[in-house]
Amino acid sequence: MQGNRDRREVLKVLLATTATAAMSRPSVSQAAPRLVVVGGGFAGATCARELKRALPHASVVVVEAETAFTACPFSNGVVAGLRDMGDQRFGYDAVRKAGVGLVVQRGTAVDPRGRLVTLADGATIPYDRLVLAPGIDIRFDGVPGYSQSAAEAMPHAWKAGEQTLLLRRQLEAMDDGGTVVMSVPANPYRCPPGPYERASLIAYYLKERKPRAKLIVLDAKDTFSKQRLFQAAWKELYPNLEWIGLSSGGKVTAVDPATKTFTTEFGDHRADVGNVIPPQRAGAIAQAAGVADRTGWCPIDPETFESKLQPNIHVIGDACIAGAMPKSAFSANAQAKVCAAAIVNLLKGEKPGEAKLINTCYSLVAPDYGISVAGVYRPANGVLADIDGAGGVSPLDAPRSFRALEAQYAESWFVTTTAEVFG
Ligand SMILES: Cc1cc2nc3c(=O)[nH]c(=O)nc-3n(C[C@H](O)[C@H](O)[C@H](O)COP(=O)(O)OP(=O)(O)OC[C@H]3O[C@@H](n4cnc5c(N)ncnc54)[C@H](O)[C@@H]3O)c2cc1C
Repeated sequence: MQGNRDRREVLKVLLATTATAAMSRPSVSQAAPRLVVVGGGFAGATCARELKRALPHASVVVVEAETAFTACPFSNGVVAGLRDMGDQRFGYDAVRKAGVGLVVQRGTAVDPRGRLVTLADGATIPYDRLVLAPGIDIRFDGVPGYSQSAAEAMPHAWKAGEQTLLLRRQLEAMDDGGTVVMSVPANPYRCPPGPYERASLIAYYLKERKPRAKLIVLDAKDTFSKQRLFQAAWKELYPNLEWIGLSSGGKVTAVDPATKTFTTEFGDHRADVGNVIPPQRAGAIAQAAGVADRTGWCPIDPETFESKLQPNIHVIGDACIAGAMPKSAFSANAQAKVCAAAIVNLLKGEKPGEAKLINTCYSLVAPDYGISVAGVYRPANGVLADIDGAGGVSPLDAPRSFRALEAQYAESWFVTTTAEVFG
């Protein structure tokens, strides 16, 4: 019964988005192309809206597993008790109002030859072009001892939601004098500077509320994004934060959730609160569609974001291999627009335009202390490459007033982008 009702819902969404959405074999030459996007996050929701704006007659449908979106950017503020979780949540009303159909279900399979997406209830949606924007999945097998149930004791909080709140509650419950241990994976992973922003804001919280407590960051790398800026700020603000890089024994080789112990090649660290940020890969639907390679991520043509492994399927956001472009919400939003424009060109039989994409990653070191890194990218030799001389990082020797301004820019970026995507 439930399955039939869900199927009727899917059919209703498809019929509402176009009068010609028949469950027949797709053909790109038809007047109203059928465009399906799996994943309604920063990448997917942006792409769907752009497609609908450019092609009002098209059927544009987003398949999204959740009824509302929970944003990761600024979720480190929730961990540190500086923000409410409610500030991270966004509904899909505006996406629907923009004429995009929303099917609230998980996409479970893709048939690239038949051009069909299968939903959790077994219903299928045909497409002419499919955009996959599923974000990341945690590689629970990436750290020995870690698992979905271990994440209840040692949260990753790398997908915003219940995990974010769990880490917050554990920090609140910890005694003053306790030890927080975080582990950071090797590249690539979602949000390269994110772990260091989190470390900063946890150190800020401890300094304010638990001055006898300390934070140890175990890192599988020796170098990281905005490193000199972060380390200069830590030296000035956070004597309670110890960062241990790869060459000093930072690589975590196993964890034990029963004792909250992190094992490294150089010895064990027992935590009162343990935050494991494990290795990641593209969301499961990417593997199911055959667009992920052996790295777990999805190779794409940098001009169109079309998969290099399956035709008519585009992959954007964290799931794709975007060359020099980092996995960020800013990148996801930019890639979504380029991908949508390329799809419009391809449907018209035109050559996609030459794209340049921008990314800026802001990080908060303290509530009124922001730093940033910006880059500009373009397709070159089959990948998205950095444009030399464009972009840059915040100056090392800036006054605190400059850092305070950057903290405001960070907030403005979040408000503007989430309003554009979900508002
Ligand atoms: C702590 C932290 C801080 C961050 N801070 C910043 C920041 O300051 N600035 C910045 O630019 N970026 C930041 N990021 C990175 C940013 O969150 C991601 O890069 C961004 O969310 C990627 O967008 P996406 O659309 O690819 O994936 P997501 O935003 O994760 O969206 C994926 C969507 O797809 C849905 N989905 C997945 N699989 C399926 C399926 N099979 N069927 C249906 N739906 C599915 C999910 O429910 C989700 O809604 C941060 C990340 C973290 C973890």
